[in-house]
Amino acid sequence: MKSNRNRLNELRALAAPLETPSATRVARLQQAGEHAERFLESLPERDVYGTAGPRDEAMTAFAVPQYPEPFDEALQVVEQYVDGIGHNLGSSRFFAYIPSGGLHDSAIADYLAAVSNRYAGVGAAAPGATRLEHVMLRWLAEVVGYPDAAEGDLTSGGSMAALSAIVAAREARSLKSADVPSAVVYLTAHTHHTFRKALHVAGLGECVIREIPLDAGMRMNCERLQDSIREDQIAGLQPWLICASAGTTDTGSIDSLDRVADIAAEADVWMHVDAAYGGAFALCEEGRRRLKGIERSDSMILDPHKGFFLPCGIGVVLIRDGQKLFDAYHARGTYMQDVAGDTERSPCDYSAELTRPSRALRFWLPFKVHGSRAFAAALEEKLLLAQHFYDHCERIDGIELGPAPDLSVVTFRFCPESIDADVATRALLDAIHRDGRVFLASTTIAGQFTIRMAILTYHTHLEDVDLALAVVRECTAQIETGGAQ
Ligand SMILES: *Cc1c(COP(=O)(O)O)cnc(C)c1O
Repeated sequence: MKSNRNRLNELRALAAPLETPSATRVARLQQAGEHAERFLESLPERDVYGTAGPRDEAMTAFAVPQYPEPFDEALQVVEQYVDGIGHNLGSSRFFAYIPSGGLHDSAIADYLAAVSNRYAGVGAAAPGATRLEHVMLRWLAEVVGYPDAAEGDLTSGGSMAALSAIVAAREARSLKSADVPSAVVYLTAHTHHTFRKALHVAGLGECVIREIPLDAGMRMNCERLQDSIREDQIAGLQPWLICASAGTTDTGSIDSLDRVADIAAEADVWMHVDAAYGGAFALCEEGRRRLKGIERSDSMILDPHKGFFLPCGIGVVLIRDGQKLFDAYHARGTYMQDVAGDTERSPCDYSAELTRPSRALRFWLPFKVHGSRAFAAALEEKLLLAQHFYDHCERIDGIELGPAPDLSVVTFRFCPESIDADVATRALLDAIHRDGRVFLASTTIAGQFTIRMAILTYHTHLEDVDLALAVVRECTAQIETGGAQ
């Protein structure tokens, strides 16, 4: 007994560093705040493309120490080996992939959520955090035009949200394993790859996949969709799920959602909309007009870490008939019997997760302190900036544009007379990367190497887009005079 006491005291002394005193907490938070400010203030000058830095050196610097090391040393490691390298998604000159802004108030909310550490999966444990989540889901459902019966979940991102929607659609149609080989999924070549991945993860990889051709606007060809469903019905297959895109990643094109909804209703097929990129635009009037029909879908996903400019780590799934999401996920363990009679809504009833952070706070706080009107304005600005880029890029010698932008992505190729277009377009992208002032990336459309200009951070404005135009203009001129190396 005596020796147990001694050991307890010894262990307590060794573990003491975990209990940070108030003065230290305040000092560290200040240091962290100064670190964050240095990063944010230097962001405009930082390389948007960012190199990878020395790997071995970083791996050594990250080594987990056995004994305490100074806090400022830790911050230095973060600056040098984490923040100082790689792509700067928050840069106003980041035009690659789908940009993600990283609103500062959202970062503060993450800090607050982690400090109070609410058990945000269960209503009884965290009534405040879970009500807040419910309000954000309800608000978003209203923005996209879903009815009161809609339900949803805040996930870590779009991929997990898609998985959740697919599982809800699977359960809603009672698809058993024996049904999978005859269940048919309709999508296009431009459906985001994570949708097929989610099908696979959900055990539905053996479904029949119909890749519906795209029309000239890079949208799902609805006649072909209708024909395909009819043929499958006649063949005795089970048309199950249509995945429409509301903003493809490749070109930003929005499928004809009203038309798809008509076809889905007629054939009694589940209509899912991947609005991970485009859904946020429903906040502004022009965006809502372009997304018309999205409110008729059975499920959709949105990514607030894209169009609502939040830091990475938040996606949303919405299901029109919310009961279907509950039915797919509700479960309880005996150790949860104390909360069995709880009347608060529990996120764990709508999600594969149990323990989870409060994701609502990072979503709510920026809207609370800026108001939704600021977001609507920023999104409408992005639509206009994309049109501006499209209009001016067209005037650059040798540039051939893709379809007029439905949202904020513009695609183009460089097709000078003397050089093969694929070679010239690759050379143009290489030259843009070497120049480094802006960061654009590429895709392949109908076998052709294509550059994408994606505009989506809150602080990307006209001068940034004009800079991108200038870089494209200068780089094309260089290639035309120097030839593609
Ligand atoms: C980003 C994106 C996804 C995947 O979402 P993550 O948040 O990256 O997991 C799916 N679909 C579309 C259209 C996207 O833009």
